Amino acid sequence: MKTIRFANLPGDGIGPEVMSVALNALEKAGEVFNFECITTRHDVGGVGIDNHGKALPDSTLEACRSMDAILFGSVGGPKWENLPPKEQPERAALLPLRKEFELFANLRPGNLFPELADLSPLRQDVAGAGIDVLCVRELTGGIYFGQPKSTRTLEDGQKEAIDTMIYRTTEIERITEVAVKAASLREKRICSVDKANVLETSVLWRQTVSELVKKLDPSIELTHMYVDNAAMQLVRDPNQFDVLLTENMFGDILSDELAVICGSLGMLASASLGTGTNSQGFPYGLYEPAGGTAPDIAGKGIANPCAQILSSALMLRYSFGLEDAALALENAVKDTIRSGLRTGDIAMGGDSVSTHEMASAILSRIA
Ligand code: NAD
Repeated sequence: MKTIRFANLPGDGIGPEVMSVALNALEKAGEVFNFECITTRHDVGGVGIDNHGKALPDSTLEACRSMDAILFGSVGGPKWENLPPKEQPERAALLPLRKEFELFANLRPGNLFPELADLSPLRQDVAGAGIDVLCVRELTGGIYFGQPKSTRTLEDGQKEAIDTMIYRTTEIERITEVAVKAASLREKRICSVDKANVLETSVLWRQTVSELVKKLDPSIELTHMYVDNAAMQLVRDPNQFDVLLTENMFGDILSDELAVICGSLGMLASASLGTGTNSQGFPYGLYEPAGGTAPDIAGKGIANPCAQILSSALMLRYSFGLEDAALALENAVKDTIRSGLRTGDIAMGGDSVSTHEMASAILSRIA
C-alpha cells in the first residue's frame, strides 16, 4: 500500500473546520484507492502567534521540511489585524513558506459548475455551461522581486520610485514545464500571456515558451496573447482558454479575475509547486483554498468545505501522482453540487446545509 505524508496546517477562522473535512475525505479516498495518509497538524498564522509568538513557528517549519507536501487552511482575522504589516499572519506565514520551498509555480483552477452558473457575474449565455480554466502563474520572479527596487527623493524635491522586472530563461522554462504537464492532463491547449509589444521580458518569455513547448510536446496547441486582450477575453469568453500561462504580476491580476467570474471563493482551490521533488519523486507543494478565513462565519459550522477538499485533490494529483483518487474527490464534489446540496455561500437565497451535512454527502460519493 502506498503511503502519503503531508503536514496539515489548518490556520485560523474556518480553516480548522474545513481542514477536518478534507482530512476525512482523504482518508476515505485512501480506503478506496489503497493508500495510507500520514499527517501531522501544526499551528500557523494567528494561532501560531498566540501559541508560539510567530505566524510560522519553527516547529511548524521543521515539520513541513520532514513531509512531502503541505495542506494549508487559511490564516488571519480581526484579532491580528493591528499588528505591523511584516507580522501579519498571511505575510509572515505564507511568504517564508514560499521562500523555504521555492514555490515558483502557482496553479489556480477556475471552475464554475453549470449548476452554480447563477453565482457568476457573467451573463448566462457566457457562463451558463460552466467554466473550466487553469491559470499557471510564475510566483517568484518578475517585477515583485526584481532589483533595484527603491524610492528616492530627487534634487527638485519630488519623489521617484522604481521597480524592476527581470526574467531569466531558466525561470521561464521551469514554469513552462509545469504548464505543459498540467495541459497534458487537460485539453492540451496553452495560451501564454505577455506584453511582447512593449516589454523586453515578454519578448524573452514568448520566445522561450515557444521553443520549450515545441521541444517538450509538439502536440500541445500553443497560442500567445497580450495581457490586456487576455483580461478582456476572460470575461467575454472564458472557455476559449484551457491553460493560461503567465508571469507573476499578470497572473496575480488574471487569476483573481478568473476567481471572481467563477462565483464563490468557497469552491476554489490552489496549488503552489516548488523547485524540489519530494521523497516520492513528485514536486513538493503547498495546497490551499483560494479564500481566506471567513471571520464572518467562522465557528458557525456553515463554511463551505469544497475548496479545501479540492485543494487536497490537487495535492494527490501533483505531489503524489494519484490522478484517479484526485478525480474521485473532484467528482464527489461535482456530484454533490449536482444533487442540489448547497452551503450558504452558494445557496443563492435558497435552502442551505451545514458544513457537516455537505461533508457527509461528499464523503458518501467518493468511489
Ligand atoms: P475571505 O475569503 O475570508 O471572505 C470573503 C467572503 O467569502 C466572506 O463573506 C466569507 O464568508 C466568504 N467565504 C470565503 N471562504 C468561504 C467558505 N469556504 N465558505 C463560505 N464562505 C466563504 O476574505 P476576507 O474577508 O477579505 O479576509 C478574511 C481574513 O482572511 C483576513 O484576515 C485575510 O487577511 C485572510 N486571508 C487569508 C488568506 C490566506 O490564508 N491565504 C487569503 C485571503 C484572505
